[in-house]
Amino acid sequence: MHRRRWDLLLQSLVVFCYFLLFRNVFLSYNTHQKSADSFEIQGCTMDALVFNEQLYIDTAYPRPTLRANEAIIRPHLLGICNTDIEITHGYKGFRGVLGHEFVGTVEAATDRAWIGRRVVGEINAYCADCATSCALGGVEHCPKRTTLGIKGRDGAMAEAFALPIACLHEVPASVPDTAAVFVEPLAAALEILQAVHIRPTDRVAVVGDGKLGALIVQVVRLPGCSVTLIGRHPERWALFQRQGIACRHSSDLPPTGYDVVIDCTGQVGGLDTARQLVRPRGRLVLKSTFHHNVTLNLSALVVDEIEVIGSRCGPFAPALRLLERGLVEVEPLISAVYPLRDAVAAFAAARGQLKVMLQVSPDQK
Ligand SMILES: [Zn+2]
Ligand SMILES: [Zn+2]
Repeated sequence: MHRRRWDLLLQSLVVFCYFLLFRNVFLSYNTHQKSADSFEIQGCTMDALVFNEQLYIDTAYPRPTLRANEAIIRPHLLGICNTDIEITHGYKGFRGVLGHEFVGTVEAATDRAWIGRRVVGEINAYCADCATSCALGGVEHCPKRTTLGIKGRDGAMAEAFALPIACLHEVPASVPDTAAVFVEPLAAALEILQAVHIRPTDRVAVVGDGKLGALIVQVVRLPGCSVTLIGRHPERWALFQRQGIACRHSSDLPPTGYDVVIDCTGQVGGLDTARQLVRPRGRLVLKSTFHHNVTLNLSALVVDEIEVIGSRCGPFAPALRLLERGLVEVEPLISAVYPLRDAVAAFAAARGQLKVMLQVSPDQK
């Protein structure tokens, strides 16, 4: 009897030891996972540029949390685009953190292979399984999508932000941050070549020498066609003229007769100008987004049999290749770089300049 009691005690002790061992292994695994995958441990608030009736820096904005199939990115450099400025005028009714043009480093991701990589990112977070768009390959038009800093998803103008891993593209080492930050608008410019067959023999006019026009004009010249840039800022034209692009002031319009005309002025008047320049049976590409409705004489489009093409987001991989191969020059387009905390002043400056950037944390290559 005495012996049996000792056996029982010994068995209980062994079971208890195993319990302690398993508990410690579980706790250490859990702590490791948390430190690797969760960004919250770095503090729960951050600086962010927020638009909510007005534009302001929030120094205590909640940090993003890591969700399934997503990454948390620390941006290095961000571009201010006309869409950001339009949002501050009410476009899309967006409220939250602005910004969708970025290059940054993945700080946390559910797929750990992405951690530490320098990335740019597509801005439409799609559902991946809707029958109307995603199943047909048009993920940018997924009806359930959120769009970085534009629709239903906080943007990149903060110390950190979240984006699905499926949207990320690693930046080649040879492309510096100051070039990679242009990938999103450069992809949007390339979308014109995706949608419109521009023949080497075509005469092409780009109306608008602003932020997007400066990229579009360099992209549409690639097939070797004749390209004319029409704008209001002769001080910006030297770069384009060196590339063989004819530049004309909008007060001195060339005669009509262009095969393809692209409006990227962001101005109602620019669309009228673009319309006037297209030849009958020519093609008119619309790149401007407005927060209000715009009128256009549709009967004239019918009579002249003009094809009108709307164009938005484009392919990232070819945009990265253009930068890698030096086929477009983007760094001369940077007019100023502001720290994130001065983002409100940067937005005020961006209205009259080519490309104003926000610096969050430098490239740590
Ligand atoms: Zn943009
Ligand atoms: Zn979908």
